[in-house]
Amino acid sequence: MTADSMAKKANHDQADPDPDMNTNANPLLDFSGLPRYGSVRPEHVAPAIDRLLAENRALIAELTQERTPASWHAFAEPLENANERLWRAWGIVAHLHAVCDSPALRDAYNANLPKVTAYRTELSQDLGLYGKLKALRGSSGFEGLSQSRRTIIENDLRDYRLGGAELAPSGKRRFAEIQEELAALEAKYSENLLDATNAFSVVITDRKDLAGVPEDVLRAAEDAARREGRSGWKVTLHTPSFGPVMRYAQNRDLRETLYRAHVTRASEFGNREFDNTSIIGRQLLLRREKARLLGYRDFAELSLVPKMAGSPKAALDFLNDLAERALPSARKDFAELEVFAREALGLERLQAWDIAFASEELRMKRYAFSEQEVKQYFPEPKVIEGMFRLAQTLYGIRISTDSGEIWHPDVRFFRLSDSGGNLVGQCYFDLYSRQTKRGGAWMDEAITRQRLPQGLSTPVAHLVCNFPAPVGDGPTLLTHDEVMTLFHEFGHGLHHLLSEIDDVGVSGIRGVEWDAVELPSQFMENFCWEWDVLFGMTRHAATAEALPRTLFEKMLAARHFQSGMQTMRQIEFALIDMHLHHDYDPAGATTPQELLEDIRSRVAVVFPPAYSRFLNNFAHIFSGGYAAGYYSYKWAEVLSADAYSLFEEHGVLDAATGARFREEILAVGGSRPALESFMAFRGREPRIDALLRHSGMISA
Ligand SMILES: [Zn+2]
Repeated sequence: MTADSMAKKANHDQADPDPDMNTNANPLLDFSGLPRYGSVRPEHVAPAIDRLLAENRALIAELTQERTPASWHAFAEPLENANERLWRAWGIVAHLHAVCDSPALRDAYNANLPKVTAYRTELSQDLGLYGKLKALRGSSGFEGLSQSRRTIIENDLRDYRLGGAELAPSGKRRFAEIQEELAALEAKYSENLLDATNAFSVVITDRKDLAGVPEDVLRAAEDAARREGRSGWKVTLHTPSFGPVMRYAQNRDLRETLYRAHVTRASEFGNREFDNTSIIGRQLLLRREKARLLGYRDFAELSLVPKMAGSPKAALDFLNDLAERALPSARKDFAELEVFAREALGLERLQAWDIAFASEELRMKRYAFSEQEVKQYFPEPKVIEGMFRLAQTLYGIRISTDSGEIWHPDVRFFRLSDSGGNLVGQCYFDLYSRQTKRGGAWMDEAITRQRLPQGLSTPVAHLVCNFPAPVGDGPTLLTHDEVMTLFHEFGHGLHHLLSEIDDVGVSGIRGVEWDAVELPSQFMENFCWEWDVLFGMTRHAATAEALPRTLFEKMLAARHFQSGMQTMRQIEFALIDMHLHHDYDPAGATTPQELLEDIRSRVAVVFPPAYSRFLNNFAHIFSGGYAAGYYSYKWAEVLSADAYSLFEEHGVLDAATGARFREEILAVGGSRPALESFMAFRGREPRIDALLRHSGMISA
């Protein structure tokens, strides 16, 4: 918060003796425009959430009266709008908790989370609402509603059933308890992981011990040590430090130390306070109990009801089919790496902490370039400029800088307009890693497109990454992988921002089947491999030259490097996730760790040491909402690769194909089944060939 806004805030409070109950004074209750990130304080959370919950409960009491007609305008719409206000306010809190955590905010978040969770459960079990919705579904007015509105009602009915609406009173009580406990466990899992990640660091005092580590990483490590009043280089488990050290440090002991710390995070081998082991077991038990309450055999069955794949069997068949095709190339990849490590690096036995390092050395030898060399051509501002130009070309929009309250000085804010200059949507970019931010990269909705009585509310997105912050005067230089991450999240952002749906329940990414939601994001990654796109977004940090064609050709040749190994790694994650939630017995004698080892014996080519506790930091499925859904990354890759192949046929910058993609996929959100949207764009059902071709497993 700036001194100015604090002063303004203080004045405002003086003028209003009861700030918490005044909509204007509590920024979380101000829905007139953009979220007021610079003004929200932890003490705003409880009053805002309490007030919205009370308002919504009063509204629901009114809506469920006999006299309220079961129509869209009298019933569904007011409920949807009221809930949207709550999700927006809570979304701000959850977002700040994720990107600038503080002890006070964490307390406020944790204190209010159970209230919000309880309300969600209440909503999903309110028989009055459920009955009214069924009446609306059965009314003569239903067929006259738009497809969006009919889809919202059908989805709601399904969600009511999956949320326990048909349960007997005792079942409902138990269901609510489970939901609340699961939400708390997920939050705790994530906090443990962040705390365990922060708990470890090593300060290296002899530069020789960091031989091989790139200059920019060393400078950041030196800064980090200096901030603690120490000399030397501070190495941590956060991705911008951990990743490059594992990849480039010649010091094998250092790699082993870091590797061990990384794979034992939040396990019994570290600070017991942060151990996630019992949380995992408890979550699996509770998830199964929840599924059984609803009449499903296991959690995976339940999880797949609203998904495109439909059943655990369909997802497992897909994974096993892909595994069968990818395993031979994964074995070949690993055998080559072993030979190389022995002959060229003198590593007699290739250990888990050697894999990234040896792979980078092999990649350099084989393709004669390094990620570091490529990175010099991708200064972040140039990349963003190129990415925006691509979106402008394909979708006929304009992107420019905008202004609004932000939560950290590094955050930037952009506006998307149509060719006539009308506002389409806005997007925050928060790209740099910091201590108070959750790891990973994601896109989140701040405001979802919606037509309200007072006018159109245009969508707003957050795009969050964990790239290294700029060091010194120069901009952050992005690896090609990081460029792809940015494109990926921007693809989600465009899905959210280019929505043309007026009803919030199926606008943007809402209502899109989980396993299809990665289509627009993974689709965008393909452009990072196109010369016509890439060329214009490069400028060497020192020489200002654009990417040479010869280097690009080498990158292309290296694109499929170890793609078999990488595919099998993803399949391993997806299989452990699906089996843990499908045919694994959380009350039985086998531990999740033993199941993981069993799956590895079938599909892995790289075997980590016995102390590795991957599940203790597999946040996707224990705190990220991907439980029995991790397969969706690969599933959506099939869709995105196949969609992209139409651009390959018509020219990758073909505006007509872009317009069609925007119209049939991005604009329609979840207003119709993903398969229908896909076929409307592609003109046929999805095929797996493009993915296999793009990953080099079959030739073109
Ligand atoms: Zn994604």
